Amino acid sequence: MAHANSLALRSQDLTKTYASTDPPTRVLDGIDLTVREGEFLVVMGASGSGKSTLLYSISGMDRPSSGSVFLDGRDLTTLNDAEMSRTRLTRMGFVFQQAYLLANLSIRDNILLPALKAAPDARDEAVARVQALMERFEIAHVADHGITQVSGGQLQRASICRALACEPAILFADEPTGALNSSMSAEVMDALTGVHRDGTTIVMVTHDPACAARGDRVVYLRDGRIVAENTPGPWTRENADRREDDLLAWLRNQGF
Ligand code: ADP
Ligand code: MG
Repeated sequence: MAHANSLALRSQDLTKTYASTDPPTRVLDGIDLTVREGEFLVVMGASGSGKSTLLYSISGMDRPSSGSVFLDGRDLTTLNDAEMSRTRLTRMGFVFQQAYLLANLSIRDNILLPALKAAPDARDEAVARVQALMERFEIAHVADHGITQVSGGQLQRASICRALACEPAILFADEPTGALNSSMSAEVMDALTGVHRDGTTIVMVTHDPACAARGDRVVYLRDGRIVAENTPGPWTRENADRREDDLLAWLRNQGF
């Protein structure tokens, strides 16, 4: 269960520079970010401000140029590739704009895949856990369908199930509703709000204020720096509209 004040993840003076351009492109410029356990943190900013790079750098998908990222008391930047892969598999979940599910596997088998890779000897437990997840996110009735036989919203909920299959400490999402229409987007955000309520820490990048309004806290990125922070507290259906309006006004102040 989440403890409101303990730390899930922390980055310290994180930078990322691409040397391939002239002059070199500094995409992250000294990011100090703390994510509390159980928090739903949202990262916003204009296109190109470094949101994806930040998410990839704190989740070990990409190596920062300098700085540290602490998870479970370890600096991820010091891990070798095998340790990093293991940490990503067992401690982190990922949801992207595209579902990246395999076309030759059923929805169920796609969701099972990372859990079986993480613990090949615990198949029965994984199958039970995945069944419970599919019921929780209302896709159990399409478990044996192929990925082209379900809706975009169902597909994205399947990728949320896959991301949760190894019971991660933290879920990272990069524009998880970016390819969806507004009703499917709300479906997926309801699912993520449920994940958050169940106690999972979430870091989500989005450019959609309606999605961002689901978060406990929103940080705003400009040119690779966190330049503003908004802490609206817990989202509810009742305060949803007001939060979205408030957030939109705040975003406009940031030049969004
Ligand atoms: P966002 O997700 O906020 O739209 P990104 O993190 O994807 O932004 O990109 C931030 C900046 O980094 C952009 O200006 C992009 O052009 C630049 N960038 C990303 N990848 C590379 C790369 N491999 N080489 C040079 N510049 C890159
Ligand atoms: Mg991006």
